Amino acid sequence: MERPIEEESAWLGRPVWADIDLDALEHNVRELKRQACGALLMAIVKANAYGHGATGIARAALAAGADRLGVVCVDEGEELRRAGITAPILVMGHTPVSQAERAVALDLTTTVGSHHFAEAVAQRAIERGVTIRVHLKVETGLNRYGLPPEQLLPLAESMRHLPGLDVEGLWTHFATGDEPDKGYVQRQFRAFTAVADQLPWIRLRHVANTATVLDMPELSLDMVRVGIGLYGCYPSEDVDRGTLLRPVMSLKSRVARLRRLDPGESVSYGCTWTAARPSVVALLMCGYGDGLRRTLSNKGSVLVRGRRAPIVGRIAMDMCVADATDIPYVALDDEVVIIGRQRDDEISAEEVARLSDTISYETLTGITARVPRVYRRGGRITAVQTLVEAPAEESATAGLESRPTNL
Ligand SMILES: *Cc1c(COP(=O)(O)O)cnc(C)c1O
Repeated sequence: MERPIEEESAWLGRPVWADIDLDALEHNVRELKRQACGALLMAIVKANAYGHGATGIARAALAAGADRLGVVCVDEGEELRRAGITAPILVMGHTPVSQAERAVALDLTTTVGSHHFAEAVAQRAIERGVTIRVHLKVETGLNRYGLPPEQLLPLAESMRHLPGLDVEGLWTHFATGDEPDKGYVQRQFRAFTAVADQLPWIRLRHVANTATVLDMPELSLDMVRVGIGLYGCYPSEDVDRGTLLRPVMSLKSRVARLRRLDPGESVSYGCTWTAARPSVVALLMCGYGDGLRRTLSNKGSVLVRGRRAPIVGRIAMDMCVADATDIPYVALDDEVVIIGRQRDDEISAEEVARLSDTISYETLTGITARVPRVYRRGGRITAVQTLVEAPAEESATAGLESRPTNL
């Protein structure tokens, strides 16, 4: 159903929401693609596009120049296919044999881990009269899901002439790409090359994630698999920041209630914060059920009227409280920025991650489904995804065949 989205109307009244800046996403796709020396760019949209909303991000990334999409499981691939996305999708995780049929029906490129799985895919492909692309992952030192050379080489050769299969890709994944010492990456890369050299007929080699694109773009090979960089975060403190990335997500809320507290009064479960002076506290309807980690209790801050208001007391499942005593003119319904920029200050996902003892990946991915995603381009809302509405169509989807999802 085509429905024009009036500015704000579709999501107004939601107590917490995530603004998704598609201009920033487009900028990041272009910058990363340029940095990757002409390699194809696979936009990694696993885990709901790191919390940004898989279908909205996939469409925008493809429109901005991404060549392919990467996910981890068949369900994630199906979500994209149901949204009408026809671009090649690589399933990077282990796919059980029982899922081979679905993977083929959805035209997903799987990463083959066994001869049994390869045969299952080939057979389904033949039944359907199609040829299915598959990739192989070389074990080079991460020790999770790759195949060691002595297993991979014979498997690759046995798959090479199997009808129904197109053994298109060979890849590996680095364990320490975001660390300053590149010794282990170099060792993994040499191990990969030793295998790749014996399989010259496999045409798509890929090893680089965001950290590698930023620090070692010479390892971009035929394709790069970028995730966190698309979303505007650097993988770690150590990677090169010469490529300017712009944060895509801002997490926002509004002041739901203001209370005056006398000295000695405390806030939230456990009474872990007590007013030391006459205080004004602001209630925000955002808690760990929305992805605001409880470990930020009494540690993090939010921005109100361009100033920092400390989060006080325990973060609950559905709400938290900020000390707004030092915010002049604070008022009900004031916009509150939990992650993102407001006036001259910014609370980055990295800062929130550091304070809650994790990494930006987990902070972003942890934003839960009940937080509406509000997609903006040129400041205008182009789509909204909530628990009850799928993202509506964008007009320009760069030739993608797309139709609204109606799950
Ligand atoms: C998640 C993932 C990526 C993307 O990593 P970033 O650090 O987010 O760029 C690349 N490759 C594989 C195999 C992954 O699982």
